[in-house]
Amino acid sequence: MSRQASELVPMENKKIKFFVCGPTVYDFSHLGHAKTYTQFDFIVKYLRWSGFDVNYLQNITDIDDKIIQRAAERNIDWRSLADEFEKIYVDDMLSLHNTAVTKYARATDYINSIVSQVQRMLDKGLAYRVADGSIYFEIAKFGDYGKLSGRTELQEHDAVSRIDSDDQKKGWNDFCLWKAFKEGEPSWDTPLGKGRPGWHIEDTAITETEFGPQYDIHGGAIDLIFPHHEAEIAQMESVSGKAPLVRYWMHTGFLNINSQKMSKSLGNFKTIRDILKTYDYRILRYFFIINQYRLAMDFSDAGLEQAKNSLTRIDEFIFNKVDANYDDSGDEAAVEEAKAKFHEALSNDFNTPQAFAVLFDFIRSQNIKEISGRRTFEFLSQINSFMDFMKFDQAKSDAFIEPLIIERNDARTKKDFAKSDQIRDRLLSMGVKIYDTKEGTKYRMQNFESGIKKVQ
Ligand SMILES: [Zn+2]
Repeated sequence: MSRQASELVPMENKKIKFFVCGPTVYDFSHLGHAKTYTQFDFIVKYLRWSGFDVNYLQNITDIDDKIIQRAAERNIDWRSLADEFEKIYVDDMLSLHNTAVTKYARATDYINSIVSQVQRMLDKGLAYRVADGSIYFEIAKFGDYGKLSGRTELQEHDAVSRIDSDDQKKGWNDFCLWKAFKEGEPSWDTPLGKGRPGWHIEDTAITETEFGPQYDIHGGAIDLIFPHHEAEIAQMESVSGKAPLVRYWMHTGFLNINSQKMSKSLGNFKTIRDILKTYDYRILRYFFIINQYRLAMDFSDAGLEQAKNSLTRIDEFIFNKVDANYDDSGDEAAVEEAKAKFHEALSNDFNTPQAFAVLFDFIRSQNIKEISGRRTFEFLSQINSFMDFMKFDQAKSDAFIEPLIIERNDARTKKDFAKSDQIRDRLLSMGVKIYDTKEGTKYRMQNFESGIKKVQ
């Protein structure tokens, strides 16, 4: 199980089944969520842009100790608390323009799948029941435990809050699959008995249902490697007898605030809503994406100001120098070279710092000139279709798009479908979606807030 960047080869030609661990909906989403999910949003959009058909699945943990506890503190029903924060999470994601997720899967919608998986573990002797009726996975039965992280012991950084303690466990790190009913807690009446699912099991139940026992990419924040992702491997590989559970693991690095861990006790805890009051989503996207996803990043006002300044340079270049109407055939070689280098950087495990260096070199050399034309516009629009932090002038964009749509409609009238498809794909690569309707062709730039435009 290599952690090296390797060429992406999905199980099924151009189809990618991509799962990312979602939030536990008991509180406001914070900057760590913003970082992880914005980086994955970009990665998935880039894979789609590159021609992959990505099914991007994210779970929502809507039953958990923390949810039950918080609901009790507020004296409300656990379900309404989970619903409230699920909605807040999804709204926050939309505020950040994180729109790539194909499906959010709520844990409680998969109780039958969870029960079925736990039952198979019991049948195979991989799990056991303790006196109160709770069911545990027996790690000693899975020889490969620890193969992802290279360890079987806890370390300081791990998301340890959900190592279940129970003095009847056989092994100290055996983890809970099914929690027996306790008075006052939500529960489901199932063939396993009355109770509720543990944490690790929801992911493999959801992915087995949606993807099957094996799939392409599993992502999540780095503190989930151990024990959460080791537990997922143990559960699914031992139940299915098929390995590996996933072909590629992608873990996002830690987010620190002014070089410190973000925590409520340190008083530096920031929610997505807080930070959006001060900084536009475009600055946040820029800042998260320019940091390579695997590396730890430091969140500071100085860093954000720097991101803001860099983004302003891009904005000003687009505003002052880029005219989509201008025929810049003389720039063809320069644009093609920048494009090639940009994508080469991204093909190396999404090396965004290097890709951005290419972009700024390009902008610097174009800025010397009087004007940049349609080739530059197309290159930047392409980047924006998967990174989504640039701002284009709507009139200038229309001036580029509309002649192409007219050319495409001409080709369609002449039944030159190869040409009309080629133009459609070219527009799509810039994030322009075309709709052929009875009233004529309409289009929309996916990342613009412009709505649908109609071409006569
Ligand atoms: Zn998970």
